[in-house]
Amino acid sequence: MMARTVLTTDAGADRNGAGASGIQRPISLANEVYETIFSQLMALKIAPGARITVDNLARELGVSQTPIREALGRLEGEGLVHKTHLIGFSAAPQISARQFGELYELRLLLEPHATGRAVGQMTDDMLATLAEAAGVMGRRAKSGDERARYSQFARQDAVFHDLILQSAGNELVRETLAHQHTHFHIFRLMFHSRVTEEALEEHEAIITAFEARNAAAAEAAMRIHIERSRDRLLPVFDE
Ligand SMILES: [Zn+2]
Repeated sequence: MMARTVLTTDAGADRNGAGASGIQRPISLANEVYETIFSQLMALKIAPGARITVDNLARELGVSQTPIREALGRLEGEGLVHKTHLIGFSAAPQISARQFGELYELRLLLEPHATGRAVGQMTDDMLATLAEAAGVMGRRAKSGDERARYSQFARQDAVFHDLILQSAGNELVRETLAHQHTHFHIFRLMFHSRVTEEALEEHEAIITAFEARNAAAAEAAMRIHIERSRDRLLPVFDE
């Protein structure tokens, strides 16, 4: 599938374009490896809590160990992979019912308020980017490989929410929520239940409130979105 030779994974080194051929390739290979493992984690092809062996992945993807290690390091930073001394890498376990409850309580305390705040500060450019993020989710929902589509959907949801927090202007709130990697965790939780068309409509309602420059409506729309997201996912814990 990705049987290419890895020349180097020193991706950041040649940004000036010097050195001609072989510069872009390692960057895109590293990204491709990362995206592949990311999709496998999001779609539970790599089960939560499962050991991840660098050797096996390298063989499966037909690449050297270097981009695999690099991807796993990046995924560790995103909370999807854990590294244990002497044992190695494993997929992050699913969050517990308790962690889920805490996460949604935190979101409800912070996000609706921040969304209201963001209304007055969101530029037209930011709003266009926000609509674009929501639109990408809608388009991806209709085509392509299911696993890749699903992981893209999760990423766009993270982008959508982060853009709003960026406009709200409180970096501490933004970092606190970013640090929870909420969207990756909840999308892994619901892979076996349903991918939501409803969430798209809820995002639309938030955008509509931003377009109308209505802070109260934006705050309310975000609260509804988070509450419904919570209620859609809660049944996962009854199984
Ligand atoms: Zn959302």
